[in-house]
Amino acid sequence: MRRVVLLGGGYVTLHAYHQLARRLSGQLRRDEVEIVIVSADASHSFHGFTGEVVAGVLPFERTRTPITEACPRARFEHARVLSVDPGRRSVAFERVDGSTASVTYDQLVVGTGGREPVHGVPGLAEHGFLLRGPGEIETLAARVVSFAAGHGETVVVAGGGLAGVELAAAIADSGHARPQPLTVHLVHSGSELLGELRSAQPRLGTRAEAELARLGVRVRLGVRLERVTPSGAALSDGSFLPARTVLGTIGQRPVALPGLESGLRDGRGRLVTASDLSVLPGVWAAGDAARVLHVTTGEPVASNALWAMKAGAHAGANAARALHGRETRPFTYRGLGQAASFGLGRGIAELYGMPFTGRLAWLLRLTFFLRFMPSRRRAALVVHDLVRVSVRGADRSVQQQSSPRLGDPRLELLRSPRPFVHEQHPVLGGVHAPYDVGDLAVGQV
Ligand SMILES: Cc1cc2nc3c(=O)[nH]c(=O)nc-3n(C[C@H](O)[C@H](O)[C@H](O)COP(=O)(O)OP(=O)(O)OC[C@H]3O[C@@H](n4cnc5c(N)ncnc54)[C@H](O)[C@@H]3O)c2cc1C
Repeated sequence: MRRVVLLGGGYVTLHAYHQLARRLSGQLRRDEVEIVIVSADASHSFHGFTGEVVAGVLPFERTRTPITEACPRARFEHARVLSVDPGRRSVAFERVDGSTASVTYDQLVVGTGGREPVHGVPGLAEHGFLLRGPGEIETLAARVVSFAAGHGETVVVAGGGLAGVELAAAIADSGHARPQPLTVHLVHSGSELLGELRSAQPRLGTRAEAELARLGVRVRLGVRLERVTPSGAALSDGSFLPARTVLGTIGQRPVALPGLESGLRDGRGRLVTASDLSVLPGVWAAGDAARVLHVTTGEPVASNALWAMKAGAHAGANAARALHGRETRPFTYRGLGQAASFGLGRGIAELYGMPFTGRLAWLLRLTFFLRFMPSRRRAALVVHDLVRVSVRGADRSVQQQSSPRLGDPRLELLRSPRPFVHEQHPVLGGVHAPYDVGDLAVGQV
C-alpha cells in the first residue's frame, strides 16, 4: 500500500488532507493508499478567535476540532515527530504513551508550524504566557478569568504585530465589565505598531492605535522585553513592569525536525520550497514551517492562516499528483488580506488592498473566519455565542464552563502555579530548536 504522511495538526494538514481525500478517494476506498497524520496536538486550533476566547466571549472549545473528526479517512498518530529520514522516506515519532515507532511514506507534507522564540527572552517560558503550544491559549484565558477574583491586575503584552495588538485589546476589553482595575501594557521593540500593515495601509495603523487608546492600553514603543520573572517584565530601557501576567507574542520560529535541517532552511529556519512547494523529492512544505514565495512579488508570503490553508491545499494536491505520476503545478495564489478585532463590532480589515474599519471590517473578518473554520457546527455555535454576548454581554465564566474535565491531563497544567511551558507537555516536550527573538510577526486573514 502506498502512503501519504502529513506532519502536524494545523491548517496545512487539514487543507492538504481534504485535497488528498478528494483526489485519492477511489484508492482510499480500495485500501491502495493510506493517509497518516502525525500530530502532537489531537485537535486543530483555530487561532483566529484567540482574542474572543481570551476576552471570555467564546469558550475555548469552539476553536478546537478533533483531528479524527476533521480528517475521518486518515489514520491518526497522536505523537511528536522525532526525525525525518528523506533517504529511507521514513518518519520517526514518539507517542503520548512514550512508545516510539516509525512510518514510511511515498509523499510527505510538512505542516509543523512554528513556536515563539522563547530562548531569546530568559524567563519567558517559565514565568510568562505563550499562545502556540497545546493548552497555552486555554491557560491564558483561565488566567484572565481569574482576574475577577483579585483586587487589580497588570498585564504586559510583548510584541506589536497583529497578534499582540489584538490580544492587548481583548484583555483590556475583558476588564471593562469588572470593578477591579486592569492595566494593560503593550511593549514593542519597533518604532511603530503593525509595521507591515501600516506601511501598506497607514489609515488602518492609525485606527488601531485609536482603538488601543480607547481601551486604555498603555503602548511603549522602542523597548524590548528582556527578561521575565515571577513578579514582572524587565525591559531593554532598564525599567521593570511589575505584573503577574506577561504574554509573549514575539513572532515565531519554525519547529526544527532533525533530518530536514542542513541546507534545506533559510536564515529564519523556514524550509525552502520550490515553486510547486516541494522541498525534496516526495517532500512538501507549507504554512509557518515553510518559506513560500509569492508568485508576483517573489517575496516570502506572510506566516498566517490564510497562506497556510492555501499552500497546504496546494501541497496536498501536488502530493496526490506526484503519487499518480502526474506533473505538479506551481503555487499561484495571490492573497486576500488581513484583519483584526478590537471588541464586538469594532475592527480593521484590508481586503484586496482596500482598507475597512469599524463594524464593516469586523463583519468582514467574522465572515471569513466562519468560512474558514474547519467545523460547520462550531462555526454555527460561534454565531450563536456572538449573538448571545451582544444581547446579554459577555459571560466571563465561559472558560470555566469549558474547562477540562477531571482526569484530563490539562487540568494539572491549569492547576500549576506556573503557566504551561512546552517542555512540560507530554507530546511536544523538547522539540524546539534554539530561537532568535523578533523575526516574524503573526499576520491575520
Ligand atoms: C494567538 C494567535 C492568533 C493568530 N491569529 C491569526 C489570525 O487572526 N489570522 C491569521 O491568518 N493567522 C493567525 N495566526 C497565525 C496562524 O495561526 C498561523 O499562521 C497558522 O496556524 C499556521 O498554520 P500551520 O499549519 O503552518 O501551523 P499550525 O496551525 O501552528 O499547526 C502546527 C501543528 O504542528 C504540530 N506540531 C508541532 N511540532 C510538532 C512535532 N514535532 N511533531 C508533531 N506535531 C507537531 C502542532 O501541534 C500543530 O498541530 C495566529 C496565531 C496565533 C498564535
